[in-house]
Amino acid sequence: MKKFLAGLLVCALCFSLAACTKDTDNSTTGKFKAGKYTGTAQGYGGEVTATVVLSKDKIDSITVKGDKETSGIGGKAIEVLPPQMVEAQSTQIDVMASATMTSNAIIEAVNAALKSAGVDPATLTPVNQDNGVKTTETVTADIVIVGAGGAGMTAAIKAKQEGNSVVIIEKMPLVGGNTVKATGGMNAAETSVQKNLGIEDSVETFIKDTMDGGKNVNNIKLVTVMAENSADAIDWLAEIGAPLPEVSFSGGATNKRIHRPEGGAGVGSYLVDAFSKNLESMDIPVYLNTTASDIIVTDGTVTGVKAASQNVDYTFNAKAVILATGGFGANEEMYTKYRPDLAGFVTTNTSGAMGEGIVMAQAIGANLVDIEQIQTHPTVEQGTSIMITESVRGGGAILVNKDGARFANEMETRDVVSAAIIEQEGGYAYLIFDDAQRKALSAIEKYVSADIVKQADTIEGLAVEIGADSATLASTIETWNKAVAGKSDAAYERATGMDVDISTAPYSAIKVAPGVHHTMGGVEIDTATQVIDTDGKVIPGLFAAGEVTGGVHGANRIGGNAVCDIVVFGRIAADSASDYCEALNTQKAA
Ligand code: ADP
Repeated sequence: MKKFLAGLLVCALCFSLAACTKDTDNSTTGKFKAGKYTGTAQGYGGEVTATVVLSKDKIDSITVKGDKETSGIGGKAIEVLPPQMVEAQSTQIDVMASATMTSNAIIEAVNAALKSAGVDPATLTPVNQDNGVKTTETVTADIVIVGAGGAGMTAAIKAKQEGNSVVIIEKMPLVGGNTVKATGGMNAAETSVQKNLGIEDSVETFIKDTMDGGKNVNNIKLVTVMAENSADAIDWLAEIGAPLPEVSFSGGATNKRIHRPEGGAGVGSYLVDAFSKNLESMDIPVYLNTTASDIIVTDGTVTGVKAASQNVDYTFNAKAVILATGGFGANEEMYTKYRPDLAGFVTTNTSGAMGEGIVMAQAIGANLVDIEQIQTHPTVEQGTSIMITESVRGGGAILVNKDGARFANEMETRDVVSAAIIEQEGGYAYLIFDDAQRKALSAIEKYVSADIVKQADTIEGLAVEIGADSATLASTIETWNKAVAGKSDAAYERATGMDVDISTAPYSAIKVAPGVHHTMGGVEIDTATQVIDTDGKVIPGLFAAGEVTGGVHGANRIGGNAVCDIVVFGRIAADSASDYCEALNTQKAA
């Protein structure tokens, strides 16, 4: 049976930002520990709470509350998904693509509740799904796209707009990849939006900022193409229902350049929702839970992809293949191969970022560039892998070591702060902030509900909570508060994020250490996104876009450039693959 999901259905996986509580009996025999468990997660408009009732051998019931989810789509997901999960006895179910964020949050909250019951949600295979029989199937399309993250979905929509038949292969049970986690925005210069807002910016400055940020390791040709095509990409997003009308400053940019959705929504989930709706309305098939394993080469030309789902071995035949499989930030074996110093680091990435696209391309001769360039994020809570936004430091928090002493300018670049934390005894630090800072930054409430924030009414009490020396922590904060008052940090020359001191009880601390965040290297492409082999030649029929590629970000990606990368190069990959298909058709006709 043909088993594709026409963009209509997605399923969901376990995300990390979730918290849980439990209320159990003592029964320990059977599959589960019977009881009532709750878990929470962040949805589209606020917190989503799931209550899961387990008996010894089954999931008895699931109820979900999320008052702030959109009443139409999100509300529907809250109504529809819980009974489906009970029926499947699993959270690995097909859900509505149009409510990706609410759906993710529901699954995430249920997973958190299951985890608090000691159940690994990944082990709960949906009932009636694995019939133990494998069939084979051949699918043919003009263009096959591997990976349904931002780059893959952009490429799919654009390629379909160009009149091609398109299919997407996605190994996870839902679309979105790492893109769904992007919170900043999209850098773009000389845009219609900037113009309307009276913001002066130039493609030239965008190129310079990106090269400076990347320590000039970047491929300037790719950077130039990205910057030159960024304004069109913003207009295109608006055309497909994803306008980014707000523009502000962000790290590493000379001018106001980072474009965001209205009202501060997370750019990643916003785009993924919009892309999903387009896939659905354009009838682009998305083969979920289907992992690509090999790129098929016939007489030196790429002609398709081998892939498999639980019950089907697929051959996808195509005129052109676009690799959009993202990076390898979730693959510790792979990132330590290139960067042994990152051994033991947690990751901020979704579990799909395993680098298979890079390995598949390498297997057919693709060259890799900047593969050792891996960006770490300095403040990641290690138990949950929750990334603590830079806004916490920007809002006035400081970092102290296990003794309670500061050790760096907290506002330095990610690589510098990460290295400074690693140098401390134990390789970790605490972010310290007060109640005024907490109240000024709503993101902190997510951390509180995830149970990763320690609090006390006094500095001494906080020192006890985190096992630091009371006198040292008190003196650190006293010195810091004087630095804030005098706008001068003699110890570490911090110059920003010093608007408020740390003086309003209760006081808070989050234990952090660096985590792997973005893999900047990958498959080599030219400015038309054609994949280049180790002899410097184009591999015919193979195109790549997004985090699977290397060269755009150099040694350090600046905030807002990942989204620009995926939209600009996703569109170019579609155009190039489309031209390639047309040339093949002309050749055949001749
Ligand atoms: P980008 O930002 O470059 O679009 P993302 O991480 O957002 O990257 O998306 C990459 C997508 O590719 C993810 O959804 C991931 O699950 C998917 N993917 C990775 N490897 C494979 C594979 N072997 N087969 C199918 N899909 C894959």
